[in-house]
Amino acid sequence: MALREIKILDTIIKPGSRHRLNLNTANLYTSTPVEIPVIINRAKLSGPVVLITAGIHGDEVNGVEIVRQIIAKKFNRPQRGTIICVPVLNIFGFLNSSRMFPDGRDLNRSFPGSKNGSLASRFAYNITKELIPHVDIVMDFHTGGAQRFNAPQIRIDKNETASVALANAFDPPFIVYSPNVSKTFRATCSRMKKNYILFEGGKSLDTDRNVMHEGVQGILKVLEHLEMLDDSFVKPTGDRKVVYISKTRWVRASHSGLLHPKTKCGVFVEAGQLIATITDPYGSSRFKIKSPTSGYVINVNQSPLVYQGDAIFHISTDAKSEA
Ligand SMILES: [Zn+2]
Repeated sequence: MALREIKILDTIIKPGSRHRLNLNTANLYTSTPVEIPVIINRAKLSGPVVLITAGIHGDEVNGVEIVRQIIAKKFNRPQRGTIICVPVLNIFGFLNSSRMFPDGRDLNRSFPGSKNGSLASRFAYNITKELIPHVDIVMDFHTGGAQRFNAPQIRIDKNETASVALANAFDPPFIVYSPNVSKTFRATCSRMKKNYILFEGGKSLDTDRNVMHEGVQGILKVLEHLEMLDDSFVKPTGDRKVVYISKTRWVRASHSGLLHPKTKCGVFVEAGQLIATITDPYGSSRFKIKSPTSGYVINVNQSPLVYQGDAIFHISTDAKSEA
C-alpha cells in the first residue's frame, strides 16, 4: 500500500522525517513574529496521524508541560504513523499568563474560525485549515480554570464510540461524559470526523506532578494501543478500574469567607459527609459544608477566599466502574 502524502504548512512530510514548522498568524505590536511551533515526527511505516495539543487556553501550563515531556523524552518519535505536537496553541495568552487571546476572545470558542474574522477567529481558521485535515486522532490537554483544581479526567461525548475506545485506552482515573460545546476545537474536530479526546487535570497557572504523570502515561497508553510507541521504550503498565461519570453537581459556598476544604480531589465522599468549613476572618463564625450526595469529588476550589454562591466542589452523582 502506498504511503499517503502529508503536506503541512507547505512542507511535504516524508516518511522517516522530522520537522519543526511554525504556524504563524499575526505579529506582536513590535513587529516581532509570533511563532507557534508545530513539531512533526513521521515514521517510515504507515499508520495513524496523531495530533497532541495544549495551551489553547494560554494559562493552562500543566497541559503544556505534559506535551513538553512527551517531546523531551522522544516519545513523539513513533514506530509507525505520524505524531504532531503543538505544546502551546495560544502563544499570545501564554505570554500574558492569560486564558484568552489579546482580543479578549476565547480561542476555544472561536472554531472553526474565519479568514477575515477576529484575531482568535483567524487563528482558529488556520488550525482548522492547516492541521486538522491531516490528522486522524486528537488529544487536547486542558486544566481547570483559576483556582478550581480538576482530578485527572478524560472528557468525551458518549455517542462518539471511537473516542470512547480511545478514552478507555488512555486509562484515566475518571472518564466524564459531556456533550460537545459549539464553536470549540472539539466540536470542529468532531464535525470533521476526527477521533478526539480532551484531558482535564489540575488548575491554571500551576503544574502538578500527579496530573502530569497521568497525562504522560495516558498518551503512552494510547500510542501503545495504536501500536505506535517505539519498541525501545518501556511499555506503560497498569489497567485501573476507570470511574465513568455522566452526571455531576456543583456544591456552592453557603456563605462568604475563608474556605477550608476537608476533602481531597479525586476521593469518594458520602452524602452528609463534612467536606469544608467557611469561616469569617475574625474567629467568630464557622459554617459547615456537607456533601449533598455520595460521589467522587472531581474538582476542588483551592481559593482561600470565597463569596457566597461560588462553586467549591464538583461531585459525581452517578459514578460507575463500567462503561
Ligand atoms: Zn482549557
